[in-house]
Amino acid sequence: SVRVRFCPSPTGNPHVGLVRTALFNWAFARHTGGTFVFRIEDTDAARDSEESYVQLLDSLRWLGFDWDEGPEVGGPHAPYRQSQRMDLYKDVAKKLLDGRYAYHCYCTTEELDARRDAARAAGKPSGYDGHCRELTAEQVAAYEAEGRTPIVRFRMPDEPITFTDLVRGELTFTPENVPDYGIVRANGAPLYTLVNPVDDALMEITHVLRGEDLLSSTPRQIALYKALIELGIAKAVPEFGHLPYVMGEGNKKLSKRDPQSSLNLYREQGFLPEGLLNYLSLLGWSLAPDRDIFSVEEMVAAFDIADVNPNPARFDLKKAEAINADHIRLLDVKDFTERCRTWLKAPFAPWAPEDFDEAKWQAIAPHAQTRVKVLSEITDNVDFLFLPEPAFDEASWTKAMKEGSDALLTTARAKLLQADWSSPESLKDAVLAAGEEHGLKLGKAQAPVRVAVTGRTVGLPLFESLQVLGKEKTIARIDAALV
Ligand code: GLU
Repeated sequence: SVRVRFCPSPTGNPHVGLVRTALFNWAFARHTGGTFVFRIEDTDAARDSEESYVQLLDSLRWLGFDWDEGPEVGGPHAPYRQSQRMDLYKDVAKKLLDGRYAYHCYCTTEELDARRDAARAAGKPSGYDGHCRELTAEQVAAYEAEGRTPIVRFRMPDEPITFTDLVRGELTFTPENVPDYGIVRANGAPLYTLVNPVDDALMEITHVLRGEDLLSSTPRQIALYKALIELGIAKAVPEFGHLPYVMGEGNKKLSKRDPQSSLNLYREQGFLPEGLLNYLSLLGWSLAPDRDIFSVEEMVAAFDIADVNPNPARFDLKKAEAINADHIRLLDVKDFTERCRTWLKAPFAPWAPEDFDEAKWQAIAPHAQTRVKVLSEITDNVDFLFLPEPAFDEASWTKAMKEGSDALLTTARAKLLQADWSSPESLKDAVLAAGEEHGLKLGKAQAPVRVAVTGRTVGLPLFESLQVLGKEKTIARIDAALV
């Protein structure tokens, strides 16, 4: 049965590319009734951090992923943090050396650089030239006597490597392009090139789905796998599928350092996990030509790795927001009311906590739900209810308060005083009638009212907003605007 893995390195903040990889692996596992393995690749002590590890787990949980094996849940191949599996890698490295699948390489960086430059100048392949492949005992002794400490280098086969990528079809790599490569550093530290396929083998991974940036390591890993099979460590070479690049601004690859790629940003802005996952699923996959909005469950039911498109995907923030907005509209109103809480308090909310009014929030929430694209927009949209005075936005005042606004506001004030405050329709009629008296259509007539009461030219449906704020405060704010 299917066993897939998600195996990030805990460096820096989680980014959207990582989330897409997790999503496709998870959806594939859930679709096939397989196993989703979560492994932490933390063998690089200089770059990995505990903080980033904690964040990764927290992010995956926020997004709603669950894992069948991995940190905290355990499993038959525990531990799932590579930093706790170092003895295993040492053991495999030794077996590879003993079986001559790998060898000690004594070349120094300077020597490697010099030979590479010479090869380049001669127009020859510039990868490792096999210098230490067949050292004699005397040569080894001489290097050791010089005090050199070797790295362990894997011996690539001399034939081309062909495999069928689940996304890209058949691919062939020739030996010139895949030279022998290091698997253990001179200080004994095992490298990604070793630990990643070794763990995939030990954890019996059947499908490796990962970003296209890792495509060049696949022929190396297939060769290493074959050695592991001969050594009785691996059972079979997994299938590989490489997910397309994600392009950002200016058609450049979206990089981890790109602010747009930070998962935390989307979380802080109030993307719903379901909206973000829906959007990220479209980076290389689609449910149907005419279906942009769907649930994670629908994705899982339909997901097939064979449907992933190999062409680069474009990251489009506007589209992500539009999709998120649709998911906000789909929420049950109670659910929406609760999910906004984060943005109704410090550090996001500008009002004093004691000025927050639960009843007003409950009354305005259904109207807010029809308007916001991301939950953080809620703060500016409802601050007029909880601030003692409306927020002052100069551009809004300049735009809405023109000559004649005072006269309009005076009439509107009088009519609003007479209106039936149990009905937003009645409030609308009041402003409509005031506008008529001054030769203004509703849109023009309501602009100064909106700015006087809420401080801004755009916001939630106005008459519902006035009703929730209440007659007394509405009138007082119009008075304040009139002085
Ligand atoms: N730890 C590797 C990374 O984060 C995993 C690559 C892979 O999926 O093989 O890039």
